[in-house]
Amino acid sequence: MTWEIVIGLETHAQLATQSKIFSGASTTFGAEPNTQACAVDLALPGVLPVANRGAIECAIRFGLAIDATINTTSVFARKNYFYPDLPKGYQISQYEIPIVLGGSLTIQTKSGEKTVHLTRAHLEEDAGKSLHEDFHGMTGIDLNRAGTPLLEIVTEPDMRSAEEAVAYARALHALVRWIDICDGNMQEGSFRCDANVSVRRVGELLGTRCEIKNLNSFRFLEKAIEFEVQRQIELIEDGGKVVQETRLFDPDRGETRSMRSKEDAQDYRYFPDPDLPPLVIDDAWIARVKNEMPELPEAMRRRLILDHALPEYDAAQLTYSLDFARYFEEVVTITGKDAAKIAANWMLGDVSAALNREEIEIADIPVSSAQLAELIINIKNGTLSNKGAKEILQKLWENANTSASVAEIIAELGLQQISDVGALEKIIADVLAAHPAAVEEYRAGKEKAFNSLVGQIMKASRGKANPAQVNELLKKALQ
Ligand code: ADP
Ligand code: MG
Repeated sequence: MTWEIVIGLETHAQLATQSKIFSGASTTFGAEPNTQACAVDLALPGVLPVANRGAIECAIRFGLAIDATINTTSVFARKNYFYPDLPKGYQISQYEIPIVLGGSLTIQTKSGEKTVHLTRAHLEEDAGKSLHEDFHGMTGIDLNRAGTPLLEIVTEPDMRSAEEAVAYARALHALVRWIDICDGNMQEGSFRCDANVSVRRVGELLGTRCEIKNLNSFRFLEKAIEFEVQRQIELIEDGGKVVQETRLFDPDRGETRSMRSKEDAQDYRYFPDPDLPPLVIDDAWIARVKNEMPELPEAMRRRLILDHALPEYDAAQLTYSLDFARYFEEVVTITGKDAAKIAANWMLGDVSAALNREEIEIADIPVSSAQLAELIINIKNGTLSNKGAKEILQKLWENANTSASVAEIIAELGLQQISDVGALEKIIADVLAAHPAAVEEYRAGKEKAFNSLVGQIMKASRGKANPAQVNELLKKALQ
């Protein structure tokens, strides 16, 4: 009997606001413990929360980006539970009426495109942190994170494999960065996923799920789901039953462990927060936010395929981030669309490799789009070989902000290819005269002799002959 895997993800994206969701304290990561927690975050008596417009706007942007309904009235609710890093004894969240309802995200998997439906996205505050290390058996509480704005994004149980779950998480990660609502820094916990996993026999109702908490890398997400699926299948096949519970992934052992039995909504005693009025968003606000939205990755991907005749793969890679895609488009604006494929190859090849090597983002690239465009124009018109172009890219990279143009660097390094037909014909004639034996062999049907002649010509030109032209002219000369 085959098993079907069912996965729904809940993702917490930390919103990129300067201040917290209900107070004016800073959200900057990494400050000394408890230096960024104000009276509201500490829950001192008599203080009142005030909702941060910036955080609300992030949620609106997200809702628009996934084509969801933005509720013009939503409600903040108290989710009550006790934990030392939650000073109020409740978390302000949204429950019955979230700000964003529905919507969907398209993902690319090995077997093609798939639509993942979203249930909702709601605003809430983060809790503080309990620090169990370095305290000789004691636990320290850091409330800097308390009150940091989060958008919790919940999917329908639509995914059917760890691969699909990772593809969704990656697409969501790219999207929140693209629309600039979250920095996506997974090490710092700005983007973390909870995976709900169950298995069922094909055609049956949904099985009992377990929720694996706080997966902060795509690899952990994949490993945790794979382990959990295997655990549940073995359990059921051995006659056992999956119990609904919250589990933790241990990356060192590659396994999930039970943390606590799953609480019900009623355990949290949700009720509307009397300190906060209903969140009202008028149409004018939504229209203004819509107006400020960049073109979305999906739309840009399709446009690159249509406008620039790029393969789907290239278009998907180029739209990995908005800055990257914009840089590419700047290059092509200068080179012209017929150089789009060469530009894509350079962006996805040498440029990406250099960015990875230097561990920098495209925003900090030392080579301007105009310089890369000039490089590509020179490759296209035969002035530069690929090898010469690589050398120049390197040079441009090392001499950031150089005022030298690509043409000047080509001249300075003597990288100009010989593309002049007359000059090439002269070199070819000399080489043929000097190697009569190879010419004989070629005429006698030995294909290899052709390559050896090409080698001689490249050598005679000190590597500067345009190889494509050499091929063509040599064939002619041998006829
Ligand atoms: P809770 O209120 O406990 O968070 P929800 O009903 O909101 O539960 O669901 C949370 C997540 O679990 C959603 O992403 C949903 O798609 C997913 N989910 C629900 N049922 C299942 C199931 N049987 N198997 C896998 N995922 C599920
Ligand atoms: Mg939930």
